[in-house]
This record gives sequence, structure tokens and C-alpha cells, in this order.
Amino acid sequence: MTNCIVTGGAGYVGSHCCKELAKAGYTPVTVDNLFRGHRELVKWGPLCECDVLDTERLAAIFEEYKPEAVFHFAGLTYVGESVEHPEDYYRVNTAGTLSLLSAMMRGGCDKIIFSSTAATYGNPLYTPIDEKHPQSPINPYGASKLFIERMMEDFSAAHGIKFAALRYFNASGADPECETGELHDPETHLIPLIIFAALGRRADIKIFGRNYDTPDGTAVRDYVHVTDLASAHLKALEKLKSDGKNLKLNLGTGSGYSVLEVIKSVERVSGKKVPAHDAPRRAGDPPVLVADSTAAQQTLGWQLKHSSIDEIVETAIRWHEKN
Ligand code: UDP
Repeated sequence: MTNCIVTGGAGYVGSHCCKELAKAGYTPVTVDNLFRGHRELVKWGPLCECDVLDTERLAAIFEEYKPEAVFHFAGLTYVGESVEHPEDYYRVNTAGTLSLLSAMMRGGCDKIIFSSTAATYGNPLYTPIDEKHPQSPINPYGASKLFIERMMEDFSAAHGIKFAALRYFNASGADPECETGELHDPETHLIPLIIFAALGRRADIKIFGRNYDTPDGTAVRDYVHVTDLASAHLKALEKLKSDGKNLKLNLGTGSGYSVLEVIKSVERVSGKKVPAHDAPRRAGDPPVLVADSTAAQQTLGWQLKHSSIDEIVETAIRWHEKN
């Protein structure tokens, strides 16, 4: 069996990637410090409890498992938190990746597929956003990830590593077989919060901003199913193996949904009314974030299989009902 290291494999996107890797015949070796990850989501391979900042321990893991590639999801992901505690974001995300790259080099592993983000673009100058859009992040979270892309470029030039930077738009939904899903604490994302309101686990959903320059006045996002994201990671590995060219690709659907449209989808799929109230805009939220993912589809042969808004919502509802 071929091993792959999955940092953050006990988290949301990482655990879905582990499942896809196992389905494709790889052994996903999760490296996670369980700070925000969940032991119970590590189901498809061994768990090494290890902090990515611990280069010595990482080097020992590379020595033991001799992985073909690294899938790198470990990191902090809350924009608001990154504004209040930038030091944590640059330490865990940026310095953590430096530690990982160093361990990879010591272990002779030369391929990394990295969980980047649309937040590296900052405020969109045009929509949909393609990969040529300038990268000018407006918060430390986006900056911490952009620095990682830059580090991978430099390591590639100097040391020959091959990398894929996959810039996600709004990861959402859950494994259709309900074996893994989103377990964020605190939960700040729109779709789970609407579902909690529909299931009566919270009083209501607050609509952050009603006066955006969008068709219904609420903010528009590109929601992409987490299983489709995971499949793009495997395709990126195959592509790095076959032609060795670094990849920088957006992962989204190209379709945007407003906050009100997502609420309607949850009402349609659950058959329950969602209590909603207007609230002020959330700081730093652009009106519209939609991906042009033509490059990912053409370069990787990536196809979206689960990313209709109703399937995203339906799989997420089943997951949250179970958990
Ligand atoms: N949003 C909202 N109410 C909430 C949470 C989010 O109206 O309780 C909006 C948010 O302003 C954004 C969209 O929903 O326009 C998606 O937010 P989320 O936090 O899920 O993802 P982000 O786009 O920030 O990565």
C-alpha cells in the first residue's frame, strides 16, 4: 500500500480527503494535534498525534511511513480570530508549513497538495474570480495562506518539490454516506447555522447584511461540496505524478447563492421553517465571492458530482441530525 500523510486529517476537509484516498487504494496517515480535530473522524488509516510545528517528530513519521505525498490541511481557519490573534495564524499556518516542508525534505518526500483559500484574493476586483486575479488578502488568515503558497514556490525552485495550491471557495456539505462531516466548535458557517435553526438547536439565523449590491441584497457565495473538494485533491496528486508541474487552482462551482437562497434551500430540503433576522454586515465580508474553476476542470479533469445547493444542504442535514 502507498502511504500519504494527511495533516489535519481529523478535521472537516481532511477527513473527507482520507476517505477518498482510502477508496483509491492509498493509506492515509493522519497527522493531527487534535486541537480542533476529532479523533472519531480518523477512520481510514492510522492517527499520529503530532503538531506540525514539531519538525523532529514529523521527520520520524516520514521515516516510518515513507509517504508518496503530503496532503496539508492542518491549520487555523477563522477569519475573525486571525484578526485578533495574528500571531497564532502565522505560527500555526505559516511556520507550521515551514516545519512540514523541512520534514518533507529530510524524508525525501517531494509532493504536497495544500489547502489554500479564496481568502488569498482579498476583495474581488471582478467576478467570477480566476487564478489570474491579484492576490491581496485583507486579513491575517488569508495572508498566512498566501505566504505558504509563496514558500512552496521557493522550495520548488530551490529543492524541486512539486506542489498544488488548491484555493477553496465555501467548503460545505458532508460525506453522502454520513461517515464524516463538519464538527466545528465554535460553528460560524452559514449552512450549519441555518440547519441548527431549522432543527431547533438555536433560535434563529442572523442575516449579516441586507443592503449588498446583489439581486436580493444579501451576500453571495460559491458553495462547493466537501466530497468534490476531496476528489480534486486526489486528481491533483495524479497530475503532479504524471507531469510534475506545480498547480494553483480555484475550487468552486462557478454558481453563487445568496444567504436568502441558502435559507430557502434548507427550508425546501428539511420541510421546516427557518426563523431569520436581519443583522449588520460582518466586517470584512465581500458582497460576492464566486470562483471561475475552468482551470481545475480542464487541467485535472475535475467534475462536480455533489455540489448542487440542495445536495449540499441535504447531506449536511443528515450529518447534523446524526451528530
Ligand atoms: N452569514 C450570515 N449569517 C451567519 C453566518 C454567515 O449571514 O450567521 C453570511 C456571511 O456574511 C457570508 C455567508 O453567510 O456572506 C457565508 O459565510 P460563512 O461564514 O459560511 O463563510 P465565508 O464566506 O465567511 O467563508
